[in-house]
Formats: sequence, C-alpha cells, structure tokens
Amino acid sequence: MAEVWRYFAHEDDYPDLDGDAACRRLGDALAIPTVDGPSRELTDWAAFDCLEGHLHASFPLTFAAATAERVDHSLLLTLPGSDPSLDPALFMGHVDVVPVVPGTEGDWTHDAFSGHVDGEYVWGRGALDMTDQVVGYFEAIEYALSHGWALRRTLLVALGQDEETLQSGARRMGALLAGRGIRLAWLVDEGDYRIVDTGLYGAPGHHGMRVSLAEKGYADLRLTVRSHGGHSSNPFGGSSLATLGEAIARVARDPWPVELTELSRRTLEAVAPWVSQEPLASLVRSGEGEGTRDAIDRNADAIARLFLGSRELFPLVTTTVAPTMIEGGSKQANVLPQDMSAVVNFRMLPGVTCAAVVARVRELLADLPVEVELLAEVSNSPSQVSRSDGPGFRFLERVAARYFREPESEEPLKLIPAIVVGASDAQMYDCVCDSCLRFSPFVADDEEVERGVHGTDERITRRAYLQGVRFLIGLIREALL
Ligand SMILES: [Zn+2]
Repeated sequence: MAEVWRYFAHEDDYPDLDGDAACRRLGDALAIPTVDGPSRELTDWAAFDCLEGHLHASFPLTFAAATAERVDHSLLLTLPGSDPSLDPALFMGHVDVVPVVPGTEGDWTHDAFSGHVDGEYVWGRGALDMTDQVVGYFEAIEYALSHGWALRRTLLVALGQDEETLQSGARRMGALLAGRGIRLAWLVDEGDYRIVDTGLYGAPGHHGMRVSLAEKGYADLRLTVRSHGGHSSNPFGGSSLATLGEAIARVARDPWPVELTELSRRTLEAVAPWVSQEPLASLVRSGEGEGTRDAIDRNADAIARLFLGSRELFPLVTTTVAPTMIEGGSKQANVLPQDMSAVVNFRMLPGVTCAAVVARVRELLADLPVEVELLAEVSNSPSQVSRSDGPGFRFLERVAARYFREPESEEPLKLIPAIVVGASDAQMYDCVCDSCLRFSPFVADDEEVERGVHGTDERITRRAYLQGVRFLIGLIREALL
C-alpha cells in the first residue's frame, strides 16, 4: 500500500503538539542501541539504562507523576488515577531491538543507530518495531499532564527488555502485577503496523486495521537419533540420517486438524458486510432468520478449507509444522553419521499446548529410535483469546474512527479482530488481563514494513509518528480521564 497517510484524518488536532521536538526525541531514542542479545551476558545493558535516562530527561512531568520501578532491565511505571475503584489500564511494549544483520550495515542510507531525522522520516532500528510506539506513549502522557488533565483511571506503562528473545522482562512484570492482586481493565501493545486491504478476506475495495487478540503458540522440538557411526559399507540397522529423515518426513506430513477458530470467525464477521468475492460471499451471507455469525458458524468447515488454500490465510486455520535445522551429518561419503538432530518449529492454534505437540510427535514416532525434546526456554503455548466486546476494544474503535479513514468516502477504517502468528510480550499479561489488545496506531506502507522491520532502512514517516501520538492522546482523553 503506497502512501499510508492518505488514510489519516484530523492531523490538525492538538496544534500545539511540537512535531519537530517530538520527532527529535524519537530520533534520540533510536540512537541508543538497545540491542537484545546475542545472549544475556553479551547484551549491553548500559544502553537500556541510557534509554531510561533519555526518557526521564525528555518527559519530566511523566516521571514526576509516576512511580517508576526497575524490574531487571525492564521498566514499570504507575501513574495513579483519582478513582481507585477503576481497574488500571496498561500501555506496554518493548525497548529492545534486533541487531542489524551482519554485513548489511553499509546498506543503510543512514546508520541504523544514527537517529537521523529529516523532513520526511525518522530513521533507525526500532523506528517501527517498536521504539516509536514506546516513545509515543510518553509523548501522549506528557502532553496530557502538561495540559493539566487529571487521570481518573490509573495508567501503567510496562516496557520489556527482551521481547525479541526470552521475554523474561514481561514475564516478570506480569507475575509482579499478579502477585499484587492487580487486574487490568485492558492493555495496548504493538500490533500490525499496516493498513490492511480487506481484499485478503474476499472484500476488495475496503481497508481496516488489525487488533490482534491472541497469539499462536510457538514450540521448537528437537529430534535426536543416536548412533556410533562406522563404515558405510555395513549400515546394519540403518543410519542415523535415514532414521532422522524418516522422522522429519512423518512429522512434517502429519495432518493437524483444520479449523475456523473463534477468532477467525470474529475476523470474518467484522468484514462480512463487504465480502463480495465468491465462494466466500455465499458462505458468509446469512439466510432467513439468522445473523452473519450464524452463517459463518454454519459454513465454518467450508470456510476453513478455503483459507487452507491461501498462502496468507492457511496459518490461521491450522497448526503449522516447519522443520528448520539439522545437525550432525557425516563429512565423508564412506563414513556413517553418528548422533544427529533436527529442530522442528510448530505454530499452534489456540487450544494446542506445547505438551500436546510433544505427546503427538512422540506417538507418531513411537516405533522409531528417536528422542523428542521440547526446547522449553523458547517455547510458549498459545495465548488466551482476548475479548473484542469489552470497553478497551470500543475505546480503540472510537479513537481510530477519528484518525484513520478511507480517503474518498471518509468512512472510518474497520478494526478487525485477528490472531497474530508471531509471539509477543502481551501474552505475559494474560494472567491479569482479559483484553490484551495488540494494536499499532503507528502505521507504515507495506513495503516499508517488509523491508524495514528486522531489515534495512527501518524508518517511520514524521506524519505517521505524529498521527500515532495524536491517537494515543485521544485514547487517554477517551479512556482514562
Ligand atoms: Zn516488536
């Protein structure tokens, strides 16, 4: 999608918001290399402290009003509201960024950690994922406080340190809130950075923004076959490579159930009035005396099979299986390999736990001499499915309707309930929140997202950044005062 700004409305709201200074503050944050990894020991934690210092210096009213707690190198802020009977809301995100791919440093127009700001863009690693939204939270809160707006509802801000790797920061902060007996009314985390062409769902000519309400699970399983090797002229009992190959093939071909999940039903329900392409149009059209959702439920199996044939949609209707790594082959053609292992990556639909994946694979390979091990440190069962009928979702809808619209008709973009295939920090708060709303009001053109996020020349337009800040100011007014 070219020129995402065409979907912006009311860019003249808050005319005293100093756009140049705001973009400069974002650029200065992007200049701090809060790179997570390659391991905990090799992470430069001083950069994380430096970013906290920058936020502190840039947003003095926010830090004066808040209680700030360091949780390892993560940060938890509490801005007390005047009405303690209201459950707090949470603005959350992560301050870590992924490294620049070695060897591509020179491909960047401006150095990845230059924090360069020009007339059109703010440049740097994290400009979309997701230092923009993090600093944007502070811009919006500082704006509110500088205008004397008093929070009625308590607002928490939680910034994780390692979303791109272990997610330990968010896990600890989620547990900390649970230990204090805090229930959150709702939370906002990063979501899809794009405006979505609903043609993907058979509804061409319309656009929407995704609010991801759940995350698929993530499991890495290691399959190991042990062997002493030996001369290849006597492979009695088979080689470890042959056994591992058979195991991988079985696991990869194992047909997991195909199902239209609750969340995919809600996705379709949201776009159903616009669906014009067959055969989907007939499948979502309600019959005599039934609603759209009834029609979707009635035709769920047919819709799921339809999705299964689409490159973009198939991960939404099944648990996916991708063998990704293999280790231990022989270096010589006449030598049998010794111990060999492979890693298979699973992305599970809601309801399929890590334990269920392990049990299924063990059963599938029961007759083979293969060890099956879950790499527990990086694996997560699917998140809960959050509500889309609660006040949090309605607040997002109301504010988005003001700031994101179709260019010609000025019709507000639809917020589309969705599931996200990747893992994020939001699920670490499932224990204290039933409305985890993964939504990014900081948007970019498709090709910017595809190239820049975890890639080269990550950047955000000044217009998109400031529109995101306006959205957050609007959200504070709508939901917290
Ligand atoms: Zn991110």
